[in-house]
Order: sequence, then structure tokens, then C-alpha cells
Amino acid sequence: MAQSNDDYMMGLALAEAAAALKQGIFPVGAILSAGDRILGRSHKTMVSNHLNHAEINLFHQVFKGNYTFSRDDGITLYTTLEPCIMCFGTMLHLPIMRLVFAMPDAYGGCAHVRLENSPPRHLSRPVEIVGGVRRQEACELFAAFLDTTTEEFWLTGGASHFQAAVRANLHLNMPQD
Ligand SMILES: [Zn+2]
Repeated sequence: MAQSNDDYMMGLALAEAAAALKQGIFPVGAILSAGDRILGRSHKTMVSNHLNHAEINLFHQVFKGNYTFSRDDGITLYTTLEPCIMCFGTMLHLPIMRLVFAMPDAYGGCAHVRLENSPPRHLSRPVEIVGGVRRQEACELFAAFLDTTTEEFWLTGGASHFQAAVRANLHLNMPQD
């Protein structure tokens, strides 16, 4: 269920994504909050590194050493793109109660992956998931990235499902004349 500060927090995540875009990096931004308290903010930081995702950078920032956070802290992860398998899996290991994302990822998003064949630890998904918050703004950042990137992966049609979703969304929202 959406909460009253979801739009605001996602705005901060979008600002992080815009900072990545300025550096020519795939624009994903992420925020961790507990109620109105912001615990950390981050964005994807390296072009060719599959570990430096916005969420993983953020997890390292917030869950340091012998951290004392627990599920009682009501921590929410905000991210501008539906998390990949690495970030989603890591989130399940951390005391995070809610996941709120902006743009669904038809290519690699794992927020709704089915867990019934998983080992016992992962049979249930103890996280509330809300998708589509400020989706259009996230989509516009991805479109701006696709328009300007010089990365071979994207120029040769990589993640075609994702690229098509970005383009389709923008097309649907173009002004009619
Ligand atoms: Zn990821």
C-alpha cells in the first residue's frame, strides 16, 4: 500500500538517478528510509560493473559493521527501477520491510519473482512491494540515457525488453497534435 511520503522519497531517489545520468551512467537512484528519516541515498556509480548498482552501494552505506537495524525499524527501500536479482536477493537478507520502485523492468526486474521452489529460507517474501511510484519521471531519465549513451550494449539493442518499455511509455505520453 502506498504511504504518504512515498512520492517525496522517490523524488530523492530520482535526484540520485539524475546525478548518475549527468555522469553518463545508467540512471538508477535509491534511498533507504525509516518513516521520515533518511538513512542513506545512492546511485549506480560505474558503467561496466555489475556490482555497483544503486541499491548495493546504498546497502554498503547503511548496513555497516554490526548494524543494529531490525525489522521493527520499518525500513523502506525506494529505487527508480525494479531491482535485479542481486539487489532483490540482498534486500531479502536485510531488515527491509517495504520495497517501492518507480519503473518496472520487463527485462531483469525480480520484484515479483516466484519463490515457491526456493529453499525454506526464501519460501515467503517478507516485504511489501509497491511499484509504479513516479514511474513516468524515472522513464524519462532512462529515455534520456538511451538517447545519449555511447555504451555498445545499449547501442546494439541490449536489454531489448527494457528499451522497448521505455520507448513505449514515452510514446503513449507524447502530446497529441
Ligand atoms: Zn541491481
